[in-house]
Amino acid sequence: MENCLFCRIAAGDIPSNKVYEDEQVLAFRDIDPQAPTHVLLIPKKHFANILEADSETIAYLHGIVKKLVKELGIDETGFRVVINTGEDGQQTVKHLHIHILGGRSMQWPPG
Ligand code: AMP
Ligand code: ZN
Repeated sequence: MENCLFCRIAAGDIPSNKVYEDEQVLAFRDIDPQAPTHVLLIPKKHFANILEADSETIAYLHGIVKKLVKELGIDETGFRVVINTGEDGQQTVKHLHIHILGGRSMQWPPG
């Protein structure tokens, strides 16, 4: 989708600080990090949110999360995975993305 920011990042039209890429997904550093490690993982195919995505894609993304947290060095200290969805979820970019946050103790509940 030409008007979608993360589709444009996935296509390489907008630069990103890439940490992982394969045929199906891309992971890159969040431009406004909320933790020492803050990575966004997206499917290259456009889904507006998790409700629009098929279970296979959702499972694949989570498999990559497990791999990435090890590569990012936050598997032992711990991490938080967040999928903001819709208005109350305060989703600002309407392309499914998984936030991977680590490197500090996370507060609960989130603000
Ligand atoms: P959400 O609020 O869950 O939709 O998250 C969108 C995230 O995308 C926010 O954490 C933004 O900081 C991040 N973001 C927006 N534009 C960019 C960009 N060009 N590169 C990397 N991250 C971005
Ligand atoms: Zn998109």
